[in-house]
Amino acid sequence: MSTPPVRRRLRVSGIVQGVGFRPFVYGLAVDTGLAGFVGNDTDGVFIEVEGEAAALDRFVAALEESAPQAARVQWIGSEDIPPAADTTFRIVASHHAATGTALVSPDLRTCDDCLRELHDPDDRRFGYPFINCTNCGPRFTITQRTPYDRPNTTMQPFEMCETCLAEYRNPADRRFHAQPNACPECGPTVRAIPPSEDPIADARRRVAAGEVVAIKGLGGFHLACDATSDRAVALLRERKGRVDKPFGVMVADVETARSVAFVDENEIRLLTSRERPIVLLAKRTDTTVSELVAPGNGYLGVMLPYTPLHDLLIESGEVWVMTSGNLAEEPIVTQNDDAVGRLGTLADSYLIHDRDIHVPCDDSVIRVLDGAEYPIRRSRGYAPFPVPLPFDAPPILATGGELKATFCLAAGRDGFMSQHIGDMENLETLDAFTHAVGHFVDLFRVEPEVIASDLHPGYLSTRWAEKQSLPVVKVQHHHAHIASVMAEHGVLDPIIGFSFDGTGYGTDGTVWGGEILVADYERFERVGHLEPTLLPGGDAAVKHPARMALSHLRTAGIQWADDLPPVCALTDEDRHLLETQLARGVNTIPTTSMGRLFDAVSAIAGVRQEITYEAQAAIELEALIDVSESGTYTFAVAERDESLVIDPSPVLRSIAADVVAGVPVGVIAARFHRGVAEMIVKTAERVRRRTGLTTVGLSGGVFQNVTLTHATRAALTERNFEVLVHRLVPPNDGGLALGQAAIAAARR
Ligand code: ZN
Ligand code: ZN
Ligand code: FE
Repeated sequence: MSTPPVRRRLRVSGIVQGVGFRPFVYGLAVDTGLAGFVGNDTDGVFIEVEGEAAALDRFVAALEESAPQAARVQWIGSEDIPPAADTTFRIVASHHAATGTALVSPDLRTCDDCLRELHDPDDRRFGYPFINCTNCGPRFTITQRTPYDRPNTTMQPFEMCETCLAEYRNPADRRFHAQPNACPECGPTVRAIPPSEDPIADARRRVAAGEVVAIKGLGGFHLACDATSDRAVALLRERKGRVDKPFGVMVADVETARSVAFVDENEIRLLTSRERPIVLLAKRTDTTVSELVAPGNGYLGVMLPYTPLHDLLIESGEVWVMTSGNLAEEPIVTQNDDAVGRLGTLADSYLIHDRDIHVPCDDSVIRVLDGAEYPIRRSRGYAPFPVPLPFDAPPILATGGELKATFCLAAGRDGFMSQHIGDMENLETLDAFTHAVGHFVDLFRVEPEVIASDLHPGYLSTRWAEKQSLPVVKVQHHHAHIASVMAEHGVLDPIIGFSFDGTGYGTDGTVWGGEILVADYERFERVGHLEPTLLPGGDAAVKHPARMALSHLRTAGIQWADDLPPVCALTDEDRHLLETQLARGVNTIPTTSMGRLFDAVSAIAGVRQEITYEAQAAIELEALIDVSESGTYTFAVAERDESLVIDPSPVLRSIAADVVAGVPVGVIAARFHRGVAEMIVKTAERVRRRTGLTTVGLSGGVFQNVTLTHATRAALTERNFEVLVHRLVPPNDGGLALGQAAIAAARR
């Protein structure tokens, strides 16, 4: 005896467009013997199904459980409605409504089925660099508008051939409703400048010959060269004006990755994940990779191919530098005509194609900390998937900081973090920022009512915020860092936050960066900080750790003795000027920056007196750590005006003495890192005694240092603290916008 039919209307939200969700629903409905329809709209996917109640329940359960691998179901809504006596199941046209926040899928690496076809001489897409299907291919970077349908993407100019169209229309096909579906007959093509019969072979030949080739990829151009050739890498460095800052490399497979770096299981999982980030791996020194790729660095950024074009270009065993195609700190180049203009002095030739990149998107950089992902740059493959917020937010735009800029468009429980925009120090980057904000507002149909920005009056992102004729909530930099790590963990109660970085504008107008806060979203109390020392000459002090070292030595009352490396690094005249500058306080500003303390220590230990990229002195100090060393240096902690003041003088005295005594730099580096970790534990215990708080959050660029973060986390856990470290957004300023958004939401 059959029961009367029931009809149910379902709404599915999350990443359910561009990932084969409608075909999946179609197949599921047909298998379960249900009638009705499915379609996309700006909120996600709408479904009506009709049939026996038990079958309907099975259908709903399977929606979540067996969704396509690239889908992320956030929420399923359901209501019973009167039966309509449907007899078939259909896919219906998309609805275009004026509101809604359908999620746009991040770009997806080439799937295994497509790779198999790519290398199958009998397949019609054999060797076709734009092969894709509902499980893989470009998404975010080609999407101009939502809903995600072909006319709303940069695939719009390509008209599908009959064969492609048949796949696109066949519910049983892997390319059913695959919006970027294409083949050599009808889709995008590659070409070389200067022209070549076989553009891919030409690029391979040129890279092998030591040339620099500009290659158009998914989210922008890369500059590629042979990573095993000192000459090629040096040429690229010279042309790019990039002295030491590490380059990322691409290798064809895990086996080749193992030959250039140490890779554990968690790192393999990350390397081969569908996001395909650059993974920072411990560098092997016994390899063919040129030392010039990441000089003085303990890590090498490695990624695997994520587009079919990469797969055709790089063969097993080869190691290619693949660095963002831009000049110095400008945004990544995405357009063909722009490339020839802006990359003209950098590249010997170009491998381009005619599928437009609508959204510039740099490669993501992720590392593994204690077995799990630890983001350094969250961009391609991750953006624009939202970070869940711990509470409902009104529509807010948070404009982030200055370096490694990202923004966050928040509404409800979604924090849409942008892709990496770059260092907001020039008009090109500001332009890119303005564009990206406009795109997010259109894409997610969130019209901000409030803007959150950094407190720093000089940041371009702050000035931009002030021009938008909307209320602006100013957020202190280090508070934003702590709110960011709280928000991504869904923590609501106050925590003890260690906010350690290079620089951030303090509420007293000085440069902060070694801050201990007791914070929730609405407010913070600065319960401790590093002893202030003078930053002599702003930028000059940042670029010259030797100057910072001398300032620190002076504050600590340590002689500028000739046998200390930063002292001999400066001329008599420089030292004399510096002494006058510090004594009179000319062009100096007090700073509590932990980043500058790392710089000073790096200089005193003889590692770096001058830097060419951000954090170089600290990175090279970390790289030299002697892991067998178990000694430590001890900070003094005093209480002044009810606030803990961390005094590095005893540490600096010990280091100076060790340097003079000829203690190896690796030992000094190890002792210093352990000393900082122990200082954090000691001060956290004092704050716990006073406040009863037991959760500690670690944020700020200093915690990109995994040796420090790992040691600190372990020591805190041992003393029964609950420790929050970043897992979804970076600890550096790339994660700032999330904290700003959470704070602005809480204050509304
Ligand atoms: Zn595929
Ligand atoms: Zn075709
Ligand atoms: Fe910061």
